[in-house]
Amino acid sequence: MQWLRLDFRKRLLLAALCCLAIGLTAPSPLTAFSMAERDRFQRAIIDYRPRLNPEYKKIERKHTRYLIVHTSELGLDTTLRVVSKGKQFRNGRRTDGGHTHYVIARDGSTYRILDKKWTADHAGTSMWDGRSDLSQMSIGIELVGYHYAPITDKQYRSIGLLLRILQDAYGLDDRAVLTHSQVAFGRPNRWHKRDHRGRKRCAKNFDRAKAGLGPTWHYDPDVRAGRLVADAQLAEVFYSPGPRAIASAVEETNLISKHNTAWLIAGEDFDSSATVYQFPDGRVFTGDQITEQVGWNRIPAKTVVLLNQSGSLAELKDDGPVKTIADGITAWSLAGRSYNHHTTIYFLPSGRIKNGSMISDWDDLPVSTRLIIGYNGPFPVSKDRSAYRIAGARFKDPQTIYYLPSKELLGGSRIEDFSRLQAGTLVFVPAAL
Ligand SMILES: [Zn+2]
Repeated sequence: MQWLRLDFRKRLLLAALCCLAIGLTAPSPLTAFSMAERDRFQRAIIDYRPRLNPEYKKIERKHTRYLIVHTSELGLDTTLRVVSKGKQFRNGRRTDGGHTHYVIARDGSTYRILDKKWTADHAGTSMWDGRSDLSQMSIGIELVGYHYAPITDKQYRSIGLLLRILQDAYGLDDRAVLTHSQVAFGRPNRWHKRDHRGRKRCAKNFDRAKAGLGPTWHYDPDVRAGRLVADAQLAEVFYSPGPRAIASAVEETNLISKHNTAWLIAGEDFDSSATVYQFPDGRVFTGDQITEQVGWNRIPAKTVVLLNQSGSLAELKDDGPVKTIADGITAWSLAGRSYNHHTTIYFLPSGRIKNGSMISDWDDLPVSTRLIIGYNGPFPVSKDRSAYRIAGARFKDPQTIYYLPSKELLGGSRIEDFSRLQAGTLVFVPAAL
């Protein structure tokens, strides 16, 4: 009411003061990085475009309305290969690559996969605010990592810079920055009778504030308009009032439990041949085998769910306590949050042994690194210190691990003659022993 009584000039003055006040108290995130920082960042982008699959058809994108954030659900090497060369499915089907414009590694290094003027095939079946097929009007950014694992500070810094640069280039505000899980939608399936959110969980752990982003959507426009059915978990993460439920409130894991179903972990990829279910008893199934061979209600608790798997299933079978990092399988896939715990022990191909507290990130570990989880050691065998003195009655146990000078890792039950163990053999004993 007060407002109406002011004359026009006073209103103008008041409006100007308001703007000034807002400007002073909440500096625009667009100014958070200096031009020199932006410049340095842009010059450091690694040009990966020569590795693009030549089969990928480059088509100019007419509009750029959104910047879409993804998590790759893989390690760096496999991410770079898949987004550039394409996905390969076990049934022989393959895609032509061009699945993103940028990849941001866990150390913050940023790769340009496809020039930003072309359309990337990254959003799939998607909709936002009534517009569908968002790949045709957006830029894709892949963060190397998992939707149930922490994004690094270095990644937040790089994506913050990249978003600013792209927002400036296309005149986009912070509401234009969305995650793939926000915009993907699925057709009716066994959980939903109608078109619905929840097809992807991609980047639902993306913390906008850490990337320097300001206010955004507090509702899902397509759910509000009745075009789509909401996904309860995603709605809580993205639109619940009060502090965001991100990461802390949501039990972020890829382990099946009563409350964490295949759908909540894998979204529409739940029954894909590229989704792998590792049962606690060591058996391994792909998503497309579950209906016939197991049944969706009979997946045991603590089953590990892995997305985007194209490697051999044999590599994923449980071969006892010794796990191996392989193509598409990172230390995080194998050890989860324990990856940097001191009782997770890594045997690098070089012969070096490190415990998790010596590892800065799971993506720093090369393929064919072996690891054991929940162990104390090393305890060297010597003349005065026998395996029995180290491990007690469990020295012959398959869970007691011996690292031989030949770099072989054996469980106690596979050592034939303990009296002939070479000096320098290292013993690792389960931490709970
Ligand atoms: Zn995605």
